[in-house]
Amino acid sequence: MTSYSKDTIRELMDGTLPWPQTRRIMSAYKDEDRFFKVIEVLQDRVKWKDRILLPVGEHLFIAETAKGRVTKCECGHDYGDYRQNWKLAAAILVRNTDELLREVYPTSDLPDPEWMELREFICPTCGVIHEVEACAPGYPVVHDFQPDLEGFYADWLGQPLPRQ
Ligand code: ZN
Repeated sequence: MTSYSKDTIRELMDGTLPWPQTRRIMSAYKDEDRFFKVIEVLQDRVKWKDRILLPVGEHLFIAETAKGRVTKCECGHDYGDYRQNWKLAAAILVRNTDELLREVYPTSDLPDPEWMELREFICPTCGVIHEVEACAPGYPVVHDFQPDLEGFYADWLGQPLPRQ
């Protein structure tokens, strides 16, 4: 069994690891206790009471609420059903001009806005940036995270998905 350093665990907790890596680690642990400890820590961080089912970002979670499973910001902003693309419900800042790109690349060469733009997906309530995408202009907003929650709980954690 692979063991992971404390730093890796912290990155996992902070949501700075990309999802495929997070999933590998969670899967490698096969330790439901660890997962639920992580959830407990996260649950303490948020002010709302809905049960966190899965972290999907540093400040973004899938939670079990009275209206079903939703994607929810740490601040409580509700992005709707977790199977929907939360990015489409976010505020989006598109950096597609030299001026806007210069703000994030102050000292390095600018990407050519003809070929690449940055999209920042921002919480409309608290303003936190949940995700930044670099892509070709016109490229559709991709929902890159559609977890199999039932499978994750049943296969990896060995218990059914909690319900309210
Ligand atoms: Zn928020």
